[in-house]
Amino acid sequence: MANGDFSELLKALRCKSCGKLYVPPRYNCSGCGESDFSEVNLKGDGEVYSFTIIRMPFEEFQKEAPYAFGVFRVDEGLIVPGRFTNEGEREIKVGSNVTFERFERGVNWFELT
Ligand SMILES: [Zn+2]
Repeated sequence: MANGDFSELLKALRCKSCGKLYVPPRYNCSGCGESDFSEVNLKGDGEVYSFTIIRMPFEEFQKEAPYAFGVFRVDEGLIVPGRFTNEGEREIKVGSNVTFERFERGVNWFELT
């Protein structure tokens, strides 16, 4: 990523031909086959769609295990994978409201609200 491995914005790709949104990376639009995308920023509000507990993560995250890994449905309709910034403080449930906090270390981080 051009601006480094940190962002306070949740980014998506919008197909320049038909407008369909994707979470990167994406190389071809499944809607129309176009490969020309523009980057857009999402609001980042959404809810927990599902989640799982990771006990055997990649090496980079090993010291943090076990931790929850979520799949979030954001208001724009996209499904975005990510982690929780405050999983120890709030109970994680399907349907819990979340808001995007940051992109860091290759992961989208969401806060339970
Ligand atoms: Zn398209």
